[in-house]
Amino acid sequence: MTNSYDFDVLVIGAGPGGYHAAIRAAQLGLRAACAEREAVGGVCLNIGCIPTKALLHAGEQVAAARHASDFGLTFGEQKLDVAKLNGWKDGIVKKLTGGVAGLFRANKVTHLVGQASFVDAHTVKVGDKTYTAANVIIATGSEPAKIRGLDVDQQQIVDSTGALNVPDPIPARMLCVGGGVISFEFSHIYNNLGSKVKIIEFLPTIIPGADADAVKEFGKSMKKQGIEFETETKANSAVKKDDGVHVEIENVKTGEKRTEVFDRVLVAVGRRPRLDGLNLEVTGVAQNERGFIPADVQQRTNVPHIFAIGDVAGNPMLAHKAMKEGVVAAEVIAGKPAAQDAVAIPGVVYTSPELAWVGLTEGEARDKGYNVRTGVFPLSASGRAMTLQQTDGFVKMVVDHDTDLLLGVHIVAAHGSDMLGEASLALEMGATATDVALTIHAHPTLGESVLEAAEAVHRQAIHIVNR
Ligand SMILES: Cc1cc2nc3c(=O)[nH]c(=O)nc-3n(C[C@H](O)[C@H](O)[C@H](O)COP(=O)(O)OP(=O)(O)OC[C@H]3O[C@@H](n4cnc5c(N)ncnc54)[C@H](O)[C@@H]3O)c2cc1C
Repeated sequence: MTNSYDFDVLVIGAGPGGYHAAIRAAQLGLRAACAEREAVGGVCLNIGCIPTKALLHAGEQVAAARHASDFGLTFGEQKLDVAKLNGWKDGIVKKLTGGVAGLFRANKVTHLVGQASFVDAHTVKVGDKTYTAANVIIATGSEPAKIRGLDVDQQQIVDSTGALNVPDPIPARMLCVGGGVISFEFSHIYNNLGSKVKIIEFLPTIIPGADADAVKEFGKSMKKQGIEFETETKANSAVKKDDGVHVEIENVKTGEKRTEVFDRVLVAVGRRPRLDGLNLEVTGVAQNERGFIPADVQQRTNVPHIFAIGDVAGNPMLAHKAMKEGVVAAEVIAGKPAAQDAVAIPGVVYTSPELAWVGLTEGEARDKGYNVRTGVFPLSASGRAMTLQQTDGFVKMVVDHDTDLLLGVHIVAAHGSDMLGEASLALEMGATATDVALTIHAHPTLGESVLEAAEAVHRQAIHIVNR
């Protein structure tokens, strides 16, 4: 690296992508800086993954307390201290973001505080100071997409950030616009806390991109728990009145319109890249038609010393993808032969049961021309699931029948996200269904369902009748 620059690498944004990039760069001996205009940790730690998972856990405990009567445990009337709930969640966020700041100090990453904007392709202004860098990593993330007619006020009409603030009283009637991951997670939270929740989705399916059978199984469980959802439906407008928010809802197939009244409306219709104030124009870095910054497998943009990682670089907008890309960019800058070459990036909806998947869906595998064979093991046949009162769901394995190669794993199950690590490793290692089936899984565990699904591929599962 030339020492004529202030830094070897300057990262813009301290979300999962940015902080991983900065820390790995520093570990590799580079002079690294990370600029952030808000709290370190980005969307994931502050207003995304972590606070939603805290609220999901709290909601599930409320529901679990209700189900405890099945085995003879009853409580008095449930009382929820909403202020305490919000405070507990905020405390976890504070601890984790404080942890990132501490890791910056320990690794000697220079933490620059303020809005960053490019002056030229090697010069970045942060606050009122200007720095030069041999390499720049853009990790500015994403923000909620807006829809006309539904103006977010973060009180009655909220986006995901507003929805993280649980109001007192809990809204009696809630509408979630959008049938994706974020919408289902908030629906699950509010449903468990006592709201009557409805989801509307424009497309013919909820959770687009997930395996069709898994989505069906997942939807069945959500409905059973009281969450309503309608597909091919859109919200045209939301008007605040004394008795609540009046939402005009349209069936996109028939054109039929109706108005329904809700206490709270969540708008969760996707996210868009965040580049405001960055002055990207002066760098010559290209954006695609949707505003994302495309990057190659080394995370380089069209300008070789400028890298893009995480949400701003495009789908899937997930924290673990941003983290990996951050590490890759830092290693490439340090001269290592790194690449973003993951076989598959896992996806999870953290409801209960969770919807968790990695690799190809059955439909994708067929489209690619594989001779597809699937194996399904229902959680209703799992002893461990029964002891946990969590028998909804299944594990579905998608396999190439000719080679036995594992192509995808689709899980609808409590703790499915934790079972997904095994499936991801299996895909990365090029495992066959036989490899998984021959691996001894502890009994009784939910993870055994992955083994049994692999056995079911061969029509040799033990705890179900094979057909
Ligand atoms: C409600 C919700 C729940 C989610 N749950 C999950 C989950 O469970 N699992 C999962 O994998 N993903 C989840 N996500 C997605 C995840 O949060 C993102 O994929 C992840 O945060 C992307 O990381 P990033 O580093 O690309 O960007 P971000 O986390 O968006 O970070 C970008 C940072 O850059 C800063 N910044 C932007 N512009 C500038 C500038 N010009 N100067 C200085 N700083 C700037 C921003 O302030 C921000 O801190 C969730 C998202 C939401 C909204």
